Amino acid sequence: MAYITASKLYDYLQCPHKVWRDIYGPQEEKITETNPFVELLWEKGVKHEEKIVSRLGDFLNLKEDSIDERFQKTIEAMKNKTPLIYQGVLKYENLLGIPDLLKKLPDNTYMPVDIKSGMGFEGADEEEGEEGKPKKHYSVQLCLYNDLLKKLGFAIHNSGKIIDIHGDEVEYDLISPMGIRTKETWWEFYERIKKHVDFLMRNADKNKPALAGICKLCPWYNSCKKWCETTKDLTNVFYLGRSNRDKLNEDLFVENIDEFLELDVEEVMKQKETEKKSGNKEFLFRIGKDSLIKSLKRAEILYRTKKPVAYETIVFPKVNYELFFDIEDDPTQEFVYLHGVYERNGDKERFIDFTATEISDEAEKEIWQKFWQYIESLPQDDFAVYYYSHHEKTTYKKLQKQYSDVISLEKVEAFFENPNVIDLYKIVQKQTDWPVGSYSLKALATYLGFSWRDETPSGALSIQWFNKYMETKDQSILKRILEYNEDDCKATMILKDGLEKL
Ligand code: SF4
Repeated sequence: MAYITASKLYDYLQCPHKVWRDIYGPQEEKITETNPFVELLWEKGVKHEEKIVSRLGDFLNLKEDSIDERFQKTIEAMKNKTPLIYQGVLKYENLLGIPDLLKKLPDNTYMPVDIKSGMGFEGADEEEGEEGKPKKHYSVQLCLYNDLLKKLGFAIHNSGKIIDIHGDEVEYDLISPMGIRTKETWWEFYERIKKHVDFLMRNADKNKPALAGICKLCPWYNSCKKWCETTKDLTNVFYLGRSNRDKLNEDLFVENIDEFLELDVEEVMKQKETEKKSGNKEFLFRIGKDSLIKSLKRAEILYRTKKPVAYETIVFPKVNYELFFDIEDDPTQEFVYLHGVYERNGDKERFIDFTATEISDEAEKEIWQKFWQYIESLPQDDFAVYYYSHHEKTTYKKLQKQYSDVISLEKVEAFFENPNVIDLYKIVQKQTDWPVGSYSLKALATYLGFSWRDETPSGALSIQWFNKYMETKDQSILKRILEYNEDDCKATMILKDGLEKL
């Protein structure tokens, strides 16, 4: 029997189509090797769990044996009022859950506890004293375990706990509303998605792939990409996204790019107004005139004119030193391990890197300090810095908080506010359009003819290489990391030049 498990619910939240495709998709098209970055995350999770478990004291370990045997033993243990059960199995009809811990409460009922290698709440910031809010996938997972405990007669409460990356216990109230403006409770949300997961798993409903950032780490990437290309799906258009695609499919019966390009925006907006007046507020919900025009322009460029467009003249600073800058960091341990700069001074070009060769605060601080010393050494007012996306700015603000003696917050802010320090992504997004489905640096630089030396260039893989390098100190891995970063910096240069030519 195919059970609804925590991982099915997790998959659904990541991509609702994956649940269906895993069972009914063309299995021969599925990538069988696990993505090394996904593997790294998994290994880190396992290590963290082992660390937490080693500090638990006495508990009943049910990790071994078959699922059925573990289920029998879990029920017995709960009947015998065992205080703490590790890796017990809960089963009821088509639901299956394996909570990391089952903890007995004073009233002899049980609470599910799961060990996670992330923060307990979303957006929690210890330094700012911000608590954050419950994470969707943690809430849904705890709801499943709590649901099973209730169905089996071992719970009356509606709560669960997460033991987070710091070993802190964070309680989840599962019947509280999901947000200030969302009345739906976590429990109602869980019931709703559980129902849909069940439909998809039974093939009673079928949904479509949709190209999104998350796809790159998914084993169905090639398969779904092929489907989207062949069917001319609307998610090929940059930023259009799954929910707008579904709305356009359902409300206007627009199934592909050709039909989309036939749309008359004024007519569509009139129709939306009429629907609204007759009480149908859901019609093309969150699709406004401007976003529709923007998507149509992008579709036109992608499928018909096939040429990039600049809507305004793009002027860059005339300076002697141009720096193309990119950082590499490992979010799993919040560690910045490389600041890379490709420097162009007239016809002289060179790559400069500030790389940590060990994981320590000292090493992270030292390379950041060196980066700023390098910036200070440049002729002031005669250099410009180019980077892609806000990640560098956000990360530098975090580093400043951590190493405030390296540079003041005012100086970091002044650096990024300097008109000569330019986020090319903002220009790309606001002032241009391209005949590609993604406006990532990789997609745009590749379109402009640049190629990376690495066969599988990716930021996620660079993190995995860095972890491997730390383990082995293998210099060939370090070389690969540096070449990848240098090529990212060079790609930024290619893009800047390409934008200038537009
Ligand atoms: S490739 Fe993308 S659309 Fe396809 S199943 Fe994976 S996440 Fe979903």
